[in-house]
Amino acid sequence: MENLYMPARVIYGKNAVRENAAVLKELGGSCLIVTGGSSAKKSGALDDVQSALESVNIKYAVFDRISANPLLSVCHEAGEEARKIDADFILGIGGGSALDSAKAIAIFAANPGLAPADIYKRVYDNAPLKVALVGTTAGTGSEVTGVSVLTNDETGRKKSISGADCYAAVSLCDYTYTCSMPYDITVSTALDAFAHAVEGYFTPKATGIIDLWAEKCIPEIYNALCFMYETKTVPDEKLRDSLYKGSLYAGLVINTCGTAFPHPLGYVLTENYGVPHGKACAAFFKAFFERAQKFAPVKAEKLCSLCGAESYEIIEVISSLADIHIKISEEDAENYSLRWAESVPKNFISSPGSLTREEAKEILASL
Ligand code: NAP
Ligand code: FE
Repeated sequence: MENLYMPARVIYGKNAVRENAAVLKELGGSCLIVTGGSSAKKSGALDDVQSALESVNIKYAVFDRISANPLLSVCHEAGEEARKIDADFILGIGGGSALDSAKAIAIFAANPGLAPADIYKRVYDNAPLKVALVGTTAGTGSEVTGVSVLTNDETGRKKSISGADCYAAVSLCDYTYTCSMPYDITVSTALDAFAHAVEGYFTPKATGIIDLWAEKCIPEIYNALCFMYETKTVPDEKLRDSLYKGSLYAGLVINTCGTAFPHPLGYVLTENYGVPHGKACAAFFKAFFERAQKFAPVKAEKLCSLCGAESYEIIEVISSLADIHIKISEEDAENYSLRWAESVPKNFISSPGSLTREEAKEILASL
């Protein structure tokens, strides 16, 4: 049975922000803009957003302290800033980190008594503020997902929240903002989008419409990855457009299916070795795809034909772009895998052949 819920309004295309100020006005008369340190400015998105807000008399303040792998404590602080200016909505500009933060900030802003880590309890009194998102990377698909991935300062671990309260009211998606991404960030974020489409494609929930979305975006993202693998240069505007669209399709796939084991294993590389999210997930593509070939050979074969490549070629492209040179000892692998000792994550269970903690440990140790 297919069960799809995806209530985010998405406006896609060049000048999506400039031409849709009226849509933002529907969200209220004041907002807190939340961004990272520089990408919102570099991409041109912040300028466009400020002009759009001013054109419809929306008051705003800017909170620009969101880091990669956003911290709960910072989102909590930003929630307080939003209350100070009496914001009606939160507007996130940036990659997944700023967009995911906007969702959490909207919850904290509406709930003054909520302590940072209590956001994981998923119980609070007031509905979150509305959220508008303007993406500057082509990767996470946070624009369309009801998910926010946050790092708990107390444990140093990444953990997501998800649900009906984590959708944007509107996402204004202009691929031209992704053009300022340098090569490495473009590669890593594209690898994340590819991981979403492929991991989701092999979960038991991927049937019917989901398969269509995955099968549409897998070749588009793979083409862009091949271009970067072969030329070691950033894509042109046309390819940026297709990558951003691809990342949104891939976001729709994980929004229903979730991700598989490369994501939780990737968190280990990000938390302990500072590997950016997309590359961290791609580090486990080989292990994942070999398992897919064993337990879901028909779909694995289909994926190869969609990409127009043999499995070894796809593995070479993805692994080479991930560019991971980390060796994890048996002992460290055992320690890292303890986080899954009480219960294995859903992502393990929905992976091809399901995955046990023991197998996850072996995959980490054989990286
Ligand atoms: P990111 O962490 O948002 O940004 C990575 C880096 O790219 C930052 O230094 C950022 O700069 C820079 N950057 C962003 N856009 C740029 C641009 N247009 N030009 C130049 N630099 C740019 O990267 P991301 O991969 O998009 O997001 C990763 C996060 O999303 C992770 O925490 C991951 O776990 C999460 N995630 C969420 C979902 C979901 O469904 N919600 C799904 C998968 C992953 P600034 O710091 O200046 O912004
Ligand atoms: Fe991801």
